[in-house]
Amino acid sequence: MEKRRSASRPEAVWKEKDLVSGQEEDAMVAIFRTSGCSWAKKGGCTMCGYSSASLSEVTTEDLMSQIDEVMRKYGGEKFVKIYTSGSFLDDNEIPPEVRERIFSEFSECSRILFESRPEYVTRESLSQVPKTVTLALGLESSDPDVLSKSVRKGFTPEDSRRAGECAKDAGLCVRTYLLLKPLFMTESDAIEDVLRSIAFADTFSDEISVNPVNVQRGTYLEHLWRRGSYRPPWIWSLTEVITKAAPVTKARIMSSPSGGGSQRGVHNCGACDSKVLDAVHEFSITQDTGCMDVHCECETRWRRYLESERMLGTAADIDRGIRDELMLAGR
Ligand code: SF4
Ligand SMILES: [Zn+2]
Repeated sequence: MEKRRSASRPEAVWKEKDLVSGQEEDAMVAIFRTSGCSWAKKGGCTMCGYSSASLSEVTTEDLMSQIDEVMRKYGGEKFVKIYTSGSFLDDNEIPPEVRERIFSEFSECSRILFESRPEYVTRESLSQVPKTVTLALGLESSDPDVLSKSVRKGFTPEDSRRAGECAKDAGLCVRTYLLLKPLFMTESDAIEDVLRSIAFADTFSDEISVNPVNVQRGTYLEHLWRRGSYRPPWIWSLTEVITKAAPVTKARIMSSPSGGGSQRGVHNCGACDSKVLDAVHEFSITQDTGCMDVHCECETRWRRYLESERMLGTAADIDRGIRDELMLAGR
């Protein structure tokens, strides 16, 4: 049954662990329901299903009620992450008085994180935020073609760089999100793309979070995935990115995959998924690539997959194509 959405209640609030000054600490995540991402209203990004969390009629009073509920659930966590399924700095989503109240409620927190598209990041908008803020930027890729054609992001990598530098000048931390394997990319192209993007983001980021694509409902990506024209990345591709980038990157590299181990998310053979995802989590905390020394027979299959994709020049789900052919042949 579909969850009933209420304008005066947040989309979700939960607790997890994250880093504060290099130490793992309790964190609270609050997803506010807003009137929605300005870019999603123009069609949005190919992989984004966040618009389902928005309601056009959300008012300032509704947002204040959402804060009341979030505060009832707040247990004094040192780190608070505030998401809006859009841009926290967009006045149409979060009016200035709502932002002000959020900052005042969490004035004792060691760290507050929120996300914004770069067009809302200006010297003026950042002058209103406390120095405990980490600005999260969804750069996704440093390749302008990938950003415009695969992700349909509606801004350029240079826009993100400008926003990141603006945040650094304001004395804030920057967490940059990158997408592993957007649409139309082979697995090996996707690995190379993230490695280049990490180098690009390293100049203005304190943390770089690699997000393997997960297939969200109601998206164009889901449509292609259902047809077998897309396979979410292998976890081996994520470990490859991490082990190659970590020794040459100043920023902290991390990954906390949504839907990891499922068919819609980053996955391997099924038998080793949780073991390898645990290693990724461990690395994200410790930054020690030694904990990535995990193996499974399916690594060979992954390498063959990379080669076959390169030879065939396709980003379609090859494994699934072969399975379908065998079924049709009655084998
Ligand atoms: S990914 Fe972010 S910028 Fe893109 S449509 Fe979704 S909320 Fe908006
Ligand atoms: Zn495996």
